[in-house]
Amino acid sequence: MRIAMISEHASPLAILGGEDAGGQNTHVAELSAALAAAGHDVRVYTRRDAVDLPVTVRSPDGYDVVHVPAGPAEPLAKDALLPHMRPFGAWLVDRWRGGDWVPEVIHAHFWMSGLAALEAGRQTGVPVVQTYHALGAVKRRHQGVQDTSPARRIGYERQLGRSVDRVIAQCRDEVGELVRMGVPRSAMTVIPSGVNLATFAPLGPAAEREPGRPRILTVGRLVERKGFQTVVRAMAHVPEAECVVVGGPPAGLLETDPYARRLRALAGSCGVADRVRLVGAVPREEMGRWYRSADILVAAPWYEPLFGLTPLEAMACGVPVVATAVGGLRDTVVDVTGDLVLARDPRALGAALRALLDDRILVRVRGRGAGPRPPALLGRSPRSASPRSTTRWPRCVDRPGGGLMSLLDAHLAHLRPRHCRRSAAASRCSPGGGAVPPDGSPTAAGCSSPATVAVPPRRNT
Ligand code: UDP
Repeated sequence: MRIAMISEHASPLAILGGEDAGGQNTHVAELSAALAAAGHDVRVYTRRDAVDLPVTVRSPDGYDVVHVPAGPAEPLAKDALLPHMRPFGAWLVDRWRGGDWVPEVIHAHFWMSGLAALEAGRQTGVPVVQTYHALGAVKRRHQGVQDTSPARRIGYERQLGRSVDRVIAQCRDEVGELVRMGVPRSAMTVIPSGVNLATFAPLGPAAEREPGRPRILTVGRLVERKGFQTVVRAMAHVPEAECVVVGGPPAGLLETDPYARRLRALAGSCGVADRVRLVGAVPREEMGRWYRSADILVAAPWYEPLFGLTPLEAMACGVPVVATAVGGLRDTVVDVTGDLVLARDPRALGAALRALLDDRILVRVRGRGAGPRPPALLGRSPRSASPRSTTRWPRCVDRPGGGLMSLLDAHLAHLRPRHCRRSAAASRCSPGGGAVPPDGSPTAAGCSSPATVAVPPRRNT
């Protein structure tokens, strides 16, 4: 099957750990690789953010990454991309109408990709499947005035959910959020993220560590909501352990990162500076070494818009998890694999870490319960968590594309091309529908006259 992935800001080829490069990049990369390995013809369309990028790059994992000229060829904050979504969609239309490769299905990642995908799908008759990865309503609730999302994000997300052919939700929490937003439950399929068990497994090399000193690992983009401050404060309650923080800019640039500097200052004021180590961004293929070196993985976000891949990756490496009881973490961290604590509560986090480190048997039991299978019980009865049923999970996780393919198999017949059959909602939602803010962005009414976009010459890859 020819599958187009649209991932406007999150390239599967990006270096991870930076402010806008994390779970979505991993998800798109792993999903595309798994689908390509299963024999599908996958192209990932992402915004061109540097002048020297070739139009198409062949990934070593067997799919193509196409760099779409939409907006300046330079890095832009994710929240500044909305005005460039209409040219993005128009470029896709041009490309697919005039070329010899037209997708059979479009899978959009994040809401802005959804707008471009919907525009392109509407004009070419290709069905669109949407994964949100994060929701504006959740971000607004938790970040309030600090939320820099485009003002109409929530409205766009609602319309998108009502207009695309299928919505993929990744956890129960997301289903609830979408229903409250007004997206019909019948439009959704729940497909939890998978983990690549070739990369993340209990056996394999581990990063060096000091003998006899327990290691608490925490991983992610260095942004406030990930709760690294809570982890640093909790270290006061586990005086014998060290805390390793993976993520952020490359090690050499950590000094210039304001949040990394704040974390170091906080560690100093809590008296734990000698036990908190920031290692900066780690390439994806080396992440397994870091997980395997740890006694416990901590994920302490204040809120989690969806799944949170790092606990799953740690579990696949057989490492127990202590996480905050938010979002999809409530599905993935269950009592056989780790503990849940309240968000923003260093004392509770410290107590959970203390209890787990003190109980060597429990650490081992949880580690064994953790990997290599995700314990997510999405839509399943608790009975499926019993040890006897665990053998079913590795296969699901091993193939991150499996859920999507089942979805397409089940629904493709009635997702088939629907030329000009879209609802009025679709064109209201489309970035060409006149709804994009008047900040130099496209303002044409309706979708029938896409902006003229220079299509760079096609290059062989
Ligand atoms: N990651 C990485 N190198 C780093 C930091 C993070 O490869 O230095 C990866 C990590 O293994 C995971 C992803 O980035 O696959 C983060 O995903 P998660 O869902 O935990 O967080 P998000 O970025 O979606 O908020």
